[in-house]
Amino acid sequence: MNRVETAALLAAIGSVDSRVRRQLGDPQAAHALIDTWHEALADIPATTPGGWDIGRAARSYYEQAGDNSARYWAIDPHHVMARWADYRHAAIADHTDPVPPVDPDHEAAWRRALAARRAAVMTGQAPPARARELGAGGPAPALADTLSGVGRRIPPEAAALLAAAGVGRRRHERPEIAAVPCRYDRCRARRGQPCRAPSGRLLRDVHATRKDDYAATLTAPAPQHTGATP
Ligand SMILES: [Zn+2]
Repeated sequence: MNRVETAALLAAIGSVDSRVRRQLGDPQAAHALIDTWHEALADIPATTPGGWDIGRAARSYYEQAGDNSARYWAIDPHHVMARWADYRHAAIADHTDPVPPVDPDHEAAWRRALAARRAAVMTGQAPPARARELGAGGPAPALADTLSGVGRRIPPEAAALLAAAGVGRRRHERPEIAAVPCRYDRCRARRGQPCRAPSGRLLRDVHATRKDDYAATLTAPAPQHTGATP
């Protein structure tokens, strides 16, 4: 606050506290009072976009239920400073770093942007960014169905058919392929055994011939029931 704002604040306080009003009535005392307050509160803004209002903060000193301080002592700058500290603490606790509008590969600029935004919140120049509220609770129920398909390239019905054939799954997720032995020369994994590289290393996948053999079992005609006529 500048000196004029400080004087205006004291005038507002004088309207509810006759002790302050009396001091302001004497030119010399008023001058000293404004100096003292201005020195203490020079770094505190009168108002901020985040809802800080120094007039309201001063007024609250006189409105504390169950606290008789104001009956015995007029407000001091430290009362306002304590409320400003509370406000700053709450603002930064409420702040979630928004994505800075800079190239994320430029780390120094990225850090500078984050720090600058936090400093702005701490000094009241910017309101806290409350991204947490947006992120909590997942999508609205009406959107959940639509969103569940986002980012999947294969429609669920097709994915189910492919999965049944073992496509798109890792070896350990499709033991049915291991139901046929591998006939690749340098592997020869037996039924139920995973394929191995010639070095003996376990493979994440199975050899192509084994896939073919497994596919052949899927397309082979179903065994005929004996003794039954359709
Ligand atoms: Zn193999």
